Amino acid sequence: MAVVNQSKGKRANTEPSIGIIGGSGLYEMAGLTDTQEIRVKTPFGDPSEAIVVGTLEGKRVAFLARHGRGHRILPGEINFRANVYAMKLLGVKRIISVSAVGSLLEDLRPGEFLVPDQFFDRTKNRTSTFFGEGLVAHVGFDKPTCGQVSSVLADASVHCGVKVHRRGTYVCIEGPQFSTLAEAHVHRQLKFDVIGMTNVTEAKLAREAEICYATIAMITDYDCWHPDHESVTASQIIATLVQNAENAQKVLREAVRAMPEQPGCKCGAALKHALVTDLKLVPKATKKKLAAIIGKYIS
Ligand SMILES: [Zn+2]
Repeated sequence: MAVVNQSKGKRANTEPSIGIIGGSGLYEMAGLTDTQEIRVKTPFGDPSEAIVVGTLEGKRVAFLARHGRGHRILPGEINFRANVYAMKLLGVKRIISVSAVGSLLEDLRPGEFLVPDQFFDRTKNRTSTFFGEGLVAHVGFDKPTCGQVSSVLADASVHCGVKVHRRGTYVCIEGPQFSTLAEAHVHRQLKFDVIGMTNVTEAKLAREAEICYATIAMITDYDCWHPDHESVTASQIIATLVQNAENAQKVLREAVRAMPEQPGCKCGAALKHALVTDLKLVPKATKKKLAAIIGKYIS
């Protein structure tokens, strides 16, 4: 197992440009060849799991299981900063997130995919920025996902015969409990489309790290608001999870194949006008800690 950290820098044979973060139901990536497991050490601690770097469709890809293999880490326990920073240290330019979600609309059916173009943050107990400690930054987040990568994901779903919704709002709750009925009704009144517990935090950090971010939200079930909720069995939900994970593997492979080499977006320059503090006053320790994401602006 290789170890990568900020001071050692990147290794030439481990430079993936696409990162995949797999959620519930997707703990490993099928079809990766020439794989290497890498323990990435970050200034924010350890990622959820060793990252598997391998080749898919002729491209180097880094895969990370968000909850760890065997699903050991609660949404609120995930070290999101370490996960995203580790991707940055490996050289990742685009993150594809894969996440199980609940549906808040009748027309968004279990087994279908949705590529969110908006998030609503209802998390409570998370650190969702790399900044602070003497460096203030405010990145734009009005469009929280990468339009280019989102299009690739939606097109790849169509290509693989998976019904996909090309936009929608993902409300991110703290969890780990599911919603109450009252919360579910409010979420529906607010016109949210799907509900999950992880993605908005990742999206914020990816934007700060100048990495493109887009999500395949795999609809697993209707949230508790649906009249059929009580009659859905655990085995039905598990069958949908398994089918979704199989479809996600196909869609990911196609998305990696189809991903344009050149980014057609501004994600890679998100910090250009975001660093507010007079850089002469930023503590050395902070500059060192954030070298992978602010290095190009302070050199
Ligand atoms: Zn982008």
